[in-house]
Amino acid sequence: MANVKEYSVEEKLGSLLHLQKIESKMDEIKVLKGELPIEVSDLEDEITGLHARETRIEEEVNGINEFIEQKKQLIKDAQDLIRKYEKQSENVKNNREFEAINKEIEMQTLEMRLAEKHIKDATEEIADKARVLEGAKKNIAAKDANLKHKKGELEKIIGETEKEEGEYREMADKARQKVDPRLLASFERIRNNYRNGLAVVPIVRDACGGCFNAIPPQRQSEIRQRKKILVCENCGRILVDQDLDAQVNL
Ligand SMILES: [Zn+2]
Repeated sequence: MANVKEYSVEEKLGSLLHLQKIESKMDEIKVLKGELPIEVSDLEDEITGLHARETRIEEEVNGINEFIEQKKQLIKDAQDLIRKYEKQSENVKNNREFEAINKEIEMQTLEMRLAEKHIKDATEEIADKARVLEGAKKNIAAKDANLKHKKGELEKIIGETEKEEGEYREMADKARQKVDPRLLASFERIRNNYRNGLAVVPIVRDACGGCFNAIPPQRQSEIRQRKKILVCENCGRILVDQDLDAQVNL
């Protein structure tokens, strides 16, 4: 025969209540941290995004600068050509040749004007991007400061509670092993249903300690007998009597 220890209902309730009290302590620590962990990770994501944006703008500016350099080279080439044509025009033999050279000069001049306009537009574009970049950098600096502040707060709380939390976690792991899997599953399910994480509650002033719904005397007496696992008819939480609640301590 397998040597499986059968727990009485009373023992089961005691184990469950013990687990509840440990979990409640950990919940308190979680409340202390509040939204900080989420806020910190959100800020980190935002900052990563802003840095990516910063890099993208810088790359765009580099691209525009390259474009400007190309246009400057184009102007230089055109100037060289114009000088060459002007020299040629000193030795023209006829009117037709003269006109052909003039046309070339005119074309190169137009090329130059166009390149100058492109440079002017590109320079304005760079100025716009510089403004956007400056805004992004300011935004990053502000978010960095905010992140540093929130991280500091969170680290302070973690520093103060880390040891305690670790101890509770270990206690909870041990306590879980004493609760049978089916009951543990109900416990977790009920816990998840309520923001305050209470799945096992004592009777308080003739009412459920979770939802404060009145519990009839007959049912209270059944709960005190600890022969059955009974739940609140209103909220579904597992009920224990006050004496058991007082006996189970961390
Ligand atoms: Zn209830």
